[in-house]
Amino acid sequence: MEDKFVSARKQYLLALSFCVLIVALTELGLYAYVKSPNGVEWSEFGLHGFLIPLAINLTVLIALVILVNSPNVHPMVKNYACSVAFVIMCVVLVTSHYEFPALLAVFTVPVIWCVVFEDKLLCSVTHILCQIGILQLTVTSSIMTKDTTIEIEANELARQLSNYYQSPRKGSISAEELLKISENAKVNVLWLNIILAIILVAISRLFAYLMLVQLKKKDTILQTHEKDNMALEKQLLRDQMTGLYNHTAFYEFLDRCVKMKGDEPLTLAVVDIDDFKKVNDTYGHDNGDEVILTLAKVLQDHCGSENYVCRYGGEEFAVIFPNSREREARQIMENTLEEFRNIHYDWHSGMISFSCGVFQCSPYRMNAEEFFSITDKLLYKAKHNGKNQVCGGQ
Ligand code: GH3
Ligand code: MG
Ligand code: MG
Repeated sequence: MEDKFVSARKQYLLALSFCVLIVALTELGLYAYVKSPNGVEWSEFGLHGFLIPLAINLTVLIALVILVNSPNVHPMVKNYACSVAFVIMCVVLVTSHYEFPALLAVFTVPVIWCVVFEDKLLCSVTHILCQIGILQLTVTSSIMTKDTTIEIEANELARQLSNYYQSPRKGSISAEELLKISENAKVNVLWLNIILAIILVAISRLFAYLMLVQLKKKDTILQTHEKDNMALEKQLLRDQMTGLYNHTAFYEFLDRCVKMKGDEPLTLAVVDIDDFKKVNDTYGHDNGDEVILTLAKVLQDHCGSENYVCRYGGEEFAVIFPNSREREARQIMENTLEEFRNIHYDWHSGMISFSCGVFQCSPYRMNAEEFFSITDKLLYKAKHNGKNQVCGGQ
């Protein structure tokens, strides 16, 4: 099965590795920034904010690299693994830093990035995983006990409000009540951010969907163009009557084969139906056509799909053998002649044969014209020797 996402997955792995590196460096930078003014200790920050997230990210990344490079794993599983790994990394990031709700926006990236795999189902699955990744914060953030920015801000707010209401002018609300308000405010802020993140990820899913629709449209247009091109190529290179390669294709292939010739033997056979004018004159042009069509089929049957079977003239045919010695090619042509001359036509009692020249391209410098000319001379030798025979290749 063709795997067209090999390079997309390579890019995905590279980008994820880059993200892990950037996140780790940012963590260290952040620590250096907050350390001095707030007196945050490395023992407090290093484990939860840096080492554990980095260890999880590296484990996920290594597991992903191993899976993506395993030859026995289905390509689709590899694509899904890439997405899941990315979502896990996002979960690690937001869980270790839920005090920064802006980080929740990171969940939009795996959803949009699914587009590279051109898979709508993968996009939906990633979308759901991301939403679960966001919602898990409602549980984990309440379990985690460390001081968060939200908490600090809410406490500060409560303290100031408490001072304000306890002043002689107001003073109707107790400090406990205000602290309770601040607790609620903390939860509300987190919930608000979670709801916003859910909407943001859903919007990114919508855009991913639209991109996939556009990609599909482009694919369909490309496929139609490819089909048109193939049809056009067929028209340009094929003989309309027999379906074999035509005059133009023959000379082009011969030239290409001679120029690109490596160590493999390159052999050419040229064929001309014997006394064909007589067939036409005696039995009519239509019966002549039948003979041409019959020979085209016999040649195609014997010479197979690996060789180029061409009709380069009216009743003149050629076969290019890009990987056969002249002995093998001669044998094939002998067999073709044997079958062709034994064919019985309702309108003809005798035998119709062809003459053939076979020649293997010299290992020394020889161009296509010289190659064809020598083979053609062997064909005329066959005609001269009494027709109904293959000349050359002994
Ligand atoms: P030789 O054995 O020396 O080849 O004699 P020949 O009669 O076959 O001579 P030549 O090869 O010159 O004959 C070619 C003939 O093929 C002349 C032409 O009328 C006929 N021919 C060419 N194209 C077609 C075609 O598409 N259909 C039919 N029926 N005849 C064709
Ligand atoms: Mg001829
Ligand atoms: Mg002829």
